[in-house]
Amino acid sequence: MSLVIAVDGPAAAGKGTLARRLAAALGLPYLDTGLLYRATGRRVLDREADPHDAAIAAAEAGALRPEDLDRSDLRGPAADMAASTVAAIPAVRAALLDWQREFGRRHGAVMDGRDIGTVVFPAAPVKLFVTATPEERARRRWLELRSRGVAADRAQVAAEIHTRDEQDSNRPVAPLRPAEDALILDTTALDAEAAFATAMAMIRDRLNSLDPGAAKA
Ligand code: C5P
Repeated sequence: MSLVIAVDGPAAAGKGTLARRLAAALGLPYLDTGLLYRATGRRVLDREADPHDAAIAAAEAGALRPEDLDRSDLRGPAADMAASTVAAIPAVRAALLDWQREFGRRHGAVMDGRDIGTVVFPAAPVKLFVTATPEERARRRWLELRSRGVAADRAQVAAEIHTRDEQDSNRPVAPLRPAEDALILDTTALDAEAAFATAMAMIRDRLNSLDPGAAKA
């Protein structure tokens, strides 16, 4: 099987930026698995249904099309919460699991999400758990929203991140938590460049510590 690198962690920890750069540097495809949950949540909202409705959410997860992932309305408070809500439904996770595994198996991948190292690819040779303090993550998300021209209240952004952390960490199925063998990367005091350099060094060390056969397992 090809090399899969798992990049998990809470909202706004810098996983996406980091994972994209790692994929480019390592010559691997990149998959933002959050988009699958975001697109599912969006399809449920399109039907004016409740994202807690397990039957509707599972049907929409099963009906996802590649073009759903290119929608321009997958980010923002409503999409964030709908994604986190449908992501707690076991049938939704089951519907998206094979697709993620198939993507990673085909050519290897850097995949970012919440459960890549614990559920999707528990045997991945390198698992990064990227985190930062809640205050720093709220600050980054607020700056990101502002840079996109979205007027956002900072306290509200912090509250939304807190709610999503709680929901993602306390759900019974595939909760957000580091795998036992995950390498923890705290980016609170790191800019994107330093986070990338640190992650690359961690990945090299981990791959060097494995024999070449294991590194590709
Ligand atoms: O990573 P992102 O913030 O885009 O993810 C949106 C939501 O999708 C998360 O809050 C989480 O509930 C869910 N998610 C998940 N498992 C993943 C990726 C995302 O449960 N692998």
